[in-house]
Amino acid sequence: MFENENNSLSYLIDQLHRLPGIGRKTAQRLAFHIIKDNIEDASELAHAILEVKSKIRYCNQCFNITESDKCNICNNPGRDASTICVVEDIVDIIAIEKSNEYQGIYHVLGGAISPLAGISPDDLHIKELLIRSQDADVKEILLAINPSTEGEATMIYLSKLLKPYNKRITRIASGVPFGAHLEFIDNGTIGRDIISRRDVE
Ligand SMILES: [Zn+2]
Repeated sequence: MFENENNSLSYLIDQLHRLPGIGRKTAQRLAFHIIKDNIEDASELAHAILEVKSKIRYCNQCFNITESDKCNICNNPGRDASTICVVEDIVDIIAIEKSNEYQGIYHVLGGAISPLAGISPDDLHIKELLIRSQDADVKEILLAINPSTEGEATMIYLSKLLKPYNKRITRIASGVPFGAHLEFIDNGTIGRDIISRRDVE
């Protein structure tokens, strides 16, 4: 195929194909779009990728992304710091924020416990969550983990670990279907799930 005769093209297609949700055909379409683009637009794209890599880092409190030490949610005095919502990934924060039903702050675990995928509790930001949970100002820890086998296991593990801290431990209601990812659930459902959250036994 033409890709084999054009090394730079096949290299670009490979790089785009590496991205989540980008199949080979979509990668080809994007690559041809870039070829047709003028050089300024192409360098804007390359620049944007490098810029984000050099500027974006993780919030030193919640592991959300930020361009400074703390993210704009942790830094916002209008947020209710007595509730910490624990999520697997940063995309879950975006989904919950869009629902406009949550005013607390967050903690990003960086995934769920999955022995099959080789993800152990030590690979996640659990230690940091326990340290934050010691703060007397923290009253509630809301577990908004994706409803999956790994998510359930993570939730059980966390609720046991958090029990001695004597905080209210809640989980989002079950409007999100099992196996679904928060990021793909509509804002209304997430909002309702947060309002009708329940205590973890
Ligand atoms: Zn933060």
